[in-house]
Amino acid sequence: MPGKHYDFLIIGGGLACASAAKELVGLGHGGGIGVLAEEKEAPYDRPPLSKEYLLGEFERDWLFLLNGDFCREHGIDLQLGIAAAAVDTGAHQVTAADGSRFSYGKLLIASGCHLRLLTVPGSDLPGLYYLRTLAESEAIREAALHAGQAVVIGGGFIGLEAASVLSQIGLDVKVVHRGDRLFEKFASDEISAFFEELYASKGVHSIYEDEVVNLGGKSRLEMVATRAGRTLPCDIAVAGIGVWPDTGYLEGSGLRLDNGVVVNEFLEAGAPDVYAAGDIANFMDVVYGRQRRIEHWDNAIRQGRRAAANMAGGRGEFRNVSYFYSTVFGLTFDFLGDMNGFDDVVPLGSFENKSATVLYLREGVLRAAFLLGRSPQERSTVAEMIAAKQPLKEVEARLAS
Ligand SMILES: Cc1cc2nc3c(=O)[nH]c(=O)nc-3n(C[C@H](O)[C@H](O)[C@H](O)COP(=O)(O)OP(=O)(O)OC[C@H]3O[C@@H](n4cnc5c(N)ncnc54)[C@H](O)[C@@H]3O)c2cc1C
Repeated sequence: MPGKHYDFLIIGGGLACASAAKELVGLGHGGGIGVLAEEKEAPYDRPPLSKEYLLGEFERDWLFLLNGDFCREHGIDLQLGIAAAAVDTGAHQVTAADGSRFSYGKLLIASGCHLRLLTVPGSDLPGLYYLRTLAESEAIREAALHAGQAVVIGGGFIGLEAASVLSQIGLDVKVVHRGDRLFEKFASDEISAFFEELYASKGVHSIYEDEVVNLGGKSRLEMVATRAGRTLPCDIAVAGIGVWPDTGYLEGSGLRLDNGVVVNEFLEAGAPDVYAAGDIANFMDVVYGRQRRIEHWDNAIRQGRRAAANMAGGRGEFRNVSYFYSTVFGLTFDFLGDMNGFDDVVPLGSFENKSATVLYLREGVLRAAFLLGRSPQERSTVAEMIAAKQPLKEVEARLAS
């Protein structure tokens, strides 16, 4: 039996989904939009979950991206708690985990990423938390309010944001990093030194070149043991060890799956009427001429919008200088572009004054930039210069003016 039909069906009720649905409504296509969302919550924004919301400075209502009234008014059928289990691109059909079926005119795959989980002994002890969903953020906050010591496992963005908030809540925080310095991904001594000093000044203890091998405790977490032989007593631990694009439910769909769903510059997934956007999309980045997958907020919003416009009959390429931001201890920093293959790093400004830019170049041409305490206008200027492949001299001259 063919199930309910939608002109536009979206799998995954997250950021890319919300952005696509709003764009479809804006383009006059309300009324025929269906969303299959594994989570029971309506689509919500994730960045505050490891920042203001975790800190208790952000209202729950502000997180939601598509509210019930908007969906009712514009004919968006939010099917919450329904996971897509299989896609038949030939028949234009999606089967959900509960066996129900849906047919589509156009399909957007926006199912994001799944958490990497710790597998070391003791990983099932209560007191170990992950941070991807609203429920997980709320559980961490609740536990943190009754805890004294925390260990953060993993020094990536989520781990370092969580460490900053837990420390601001008043916990004694230790972070276990595999790397040898903070934010080593930025490959800049200036950036790492700045954040190392910041975290140390706030009392966060960073442990480098080590990893967690065991979690211990009688009935709940009491300590974390590391490969180098450290025993770190704690009441809670938060693991931020990355995410991965789960395309298991798309096996056999005929779509190309390789580190996500492979799409071209139009976000088309290679089967008629199928598109992908957001964390799951391994897309052709025309700014750099290479396939990339990006796990960031701005990318999900813009790709959702572009995919929707293309589903609605357009065929515009997705062209964007990638961008992300993070906030730790009240300081926001931005990163623009793709530093892959850089051969030169040029710091400008003053980290001491919390106003600095770090440029990443390849063969003398600007590819990416890190910005701390710089204006939104400078951010736009840098994005323009990356897109225009500007040489260092012109970049320095323009940033100085
Ligand atoms: C705590 C946290 C803080 C962040 N902070 C920042 C930040 O400061 N800056 C930044 O640039 N980025 C940040 N990000 C990243 C950003 O939020 C993501 O890149 C963005 O949410 C990706 O959007 P998406 O729609 O692709 O995926 P998601 O928002 O993850 O949504 C995907 C949804 O699909 C659902 N789903 C999965 N499989 C299925 C299925 N088979 N059927 C139906 N539904 C399914 C999932 O349950 C999920 O709800 C943060 C992420 C987290 C978790």
